[in-house]
Amino acid sequence: MEIFSLRGKTALVTGGATGIGASIAAGLAQAGADVAVVTSSSDPREVAESVGAAGRSFHAVQADLSVPDSADRAVQEATAALGRLDILVNNAGIIRRERAEDFPQSDWDAVLELNLNALWRMSQAVGRGMLLRGSGKIINIASLLAFQGGIRVPAYTAAKHGVAGLTKALANEWAAKGVCVNAIAPGYIITNNTAALRADPERSRQILERIPAGRWGQGSDLVGAAVFLASPASDYVHGHVLVVDGGWMAR
Ligand code: NAD
Repeated sequence: MEIFSLRGKTALVTGGATGIGASIAAGLAQAGADVAVVTSSSDPREVAESVGAAGRSFHAVQADLSVPDSADRAVQEATAALGRLDILVNNAGIIRRERAEDFPQSDWDAVLELNLNALWRMSQAVGRGMLLRGSGKIINIASLLAFQGGIRVPAYTAAKHGVAGLTKALANEWAAKGVCVNAIAPGYIITNNTAALRADPERSRQILERIPAGRWGQGSDLVGAAVFLASPASDYVHGHVLVVDGGWMAR
């Protein structure tokens, strides 16, 4: 199944030092890609080992993507390390929880800045090179809250709805130019992002009861979808938001 191979490809994964991003970075390497990650404060040693164990080269770019000019610098550094960027996984994201009536403006701004504005800046910075070469794969990490409202996470929901919309907008412009833009909407995955939910026994039970698969997801559950969307197997897939949620949206 050569169409799923990423041999000879290069990938940049934002927020790739932990959680879903680290699993995807390791999975892309296992499929054959050399990998760079962008990390602001998380230690990339573990993902570096996973990529190295797959026999691929690894580079970590230190950057706070919520600072506007950091995207161009991160893309330049990753391009210098890997030669070019064939695959971009826009994964870095944060979540802030508070009742809507009390939600601080600073939290709203921080979530929108990283989860939507930085994703836009990275897509534009990497997308320009892809358009020049006439090929590339951009995978945005959305959420079930690209479809649903969620509870006490208004900024996150607004940003993730924006991610789904931007995925389609970019696909419409770039599909004919050889660049595939798609998204993955993970369900409830065991990472730092969901630590507060899992620490609340009531919310944790309610969530689990609604997942037809009967378990929370792991980062590794996202790897198949990411390799598919990064590989030639998905060359005719554009503007799609692929839900990987243990069946949550089917309920
Ligand atoms: P995580 O907290 O482990 O990952 C987030 C990553 O983003 C971290 O590596 C962090 O260092 C990085 N990051 C944070 N701020 C940054 C900044 N300013 N600049 C650069 N990098 C920064 O949690 P995760 O669950 O792996 O989240 C990854 C993505 O998956 C996020 O976009 C999140 O919204 C999305 N997601 C997670 C779930 C879930 O259930 N865990 C569900 C749906 C979507």
